[in-house]
Amino acid sequence: MNDRYDVVVIGAGPAGSVAALGIAREGFSVLLLEKDPQVGIPVRCGEAVSARSLEALTDVDPHWITATIRRFRLVAPSGAMVEPDIGGHGYILDRVRFDGDLARAAVDAGAVLLTDAYAYGLVTGANGFEGVLYEHEGECRRVSARIIIGADGVESRVGRWAGIETAATLRDMECCTQMTLSNIDTARDTCTFYFGSAIAPEGYLWVFPKGDRQANVGIGISGTAAQKRRPISFLREFVSSHFPGAVVSRVVAGGDPCAETLRRITAQNVVLVGDAARQVNPLSGGGITSGMQAAEMAARAVVRALREKRPSRLSEYPREWRRKIGAKHRTYYRMKEVVRRFPDAALDDIAERVLRLPPEKRTLWGVFKTALVHHPSLLWEMVRTFHISLSD
Ligand SMILES: Cc1cc2nc3c(=O)[nH]c(=O)nc-3n(C[C@H](O)[C@H](O)[C@H](O)COP(=O)(O)OP(=O)(O)OC[C@H]3O[C@@H](n4cnc5c(N)ncnc54)[C@H](O)[C@@H]3O)c2cc1C
Repeated sequence: MNDRYDVVVIGAGPAGSVAALGIAREGFSVLLLEKDPQVGIPVRCGEAVSARSLEALTDVDPHWITATIRRFRLVAPSGAMVEPDIGGHGYILDRVRFDGDLARAAVDAGAVLLTDAYAYGLVTGANGFEGVLYEHEGECRRVSARIIIGADGVESRVGRWAGIETAATLRDMECCTQMTLSNIDTARDTCTFYFGSAIAPEGYLWVFPKGDRQANVGIGISGTAAQKRRPISFLREFVSSHFPGAVVSRVVAGGDPCAETLRRITAQNVVLVGDAARQVNPLSGGGITSGMQAAEMAARAVVRALREKRPSRLSEYPREWRRKIGAKHRTYYRMKEVVRRFPDAALDDIAERVLRLPPEKRTLWGVFKTALVHHPSLLWEMVRTFHISLSD
């Protein structure tokens, strides 16, 4: 173990490992610190990804995939079920394996991975941030770095240490609880989403099959809705009514930042990626592939800054993020702001109308268009939301 690296990455989730890989394979020294004893555990995730997004990022190992998804079902509060054409397919991953393999790829490229290594501060000096303080095997240590990457997830503290404003509003922080169930009957190729104030106010409840009569069944509701009733209480009610014979093998809870990306994702020689930078798709809550995409962009900018010996010259990364994904996420955020206010009656009406469309028009866009055409007040709400966001 050295006490000096070109880059220290804090957090070995998908974003941290992809960033470490991208930098290590260009010949720079990288230390990847992970606080948990094993990468990928605990899994706080529904594990769903779009196949197209994942395949654009990496060669997909079949061992990562527990189910291939070809169908979506959207269930309105009345129980009416719409099955829009999703125009592609998705995967439910085994994140323990997936996260482990991503970290291993970084190590194969030359990065040093240290688990059970909890970062608790940055070292500041005359030239900006000079290193990281961390605890490993009960010992406090210090490592020097030219660039530091905060990939420490939703509870990130690296940004704050670097002086970045990272607070998310309660409303934008989805409170999630998920059970992994076995001994259940559910379609192996279908993800089902339930909406409505009695099931998942200001959010949704999901059933993602994991093959072999298993599924991740979870709920994500806004922090404000969770103040009134805890997500676990909604989830227990749902599971006992929909899967009475289920065996619960795991329960996890966690936050999902369905917010806009932080205004600043770099500060001097510190870079944030993934949930730490709030790079989750705010409409779906999915953050695996967008975090990996951001990590690739960050790695490119870091490599260039190291080659030019200007470790604070990282602005290429936020520029590329905003251009390629950030702008889209802003739109998704505004859509989320509208969708979360849909009353149950409107959701039921939209489902009924979509069911009357010819099958080829039952796409996700078809659902959205139906919502806007038949509920002009939603259109007005949309315009208002866009206007407010634009005039921020
Ligand atoms: C219940 C739930 C369901 C979800 N379902 C989906 C889904 O189906 N599909 C999807 O795409 N997204 C989903 N998400 C979001 C997704 O899990 C995250 O967006 C994704 O994991 C972000 O990756 P990351 O690498 O940024 O952070 P993480 O995967 O959170 O990794 C951060 C890592 O940093 C480590 N760390 C934190 N602090 C420190 C420290 N101080 N020192 C050292 N290490 C540290 C952590 O232990 C962790 O390993 C879900 C989230 C929740 C909560």
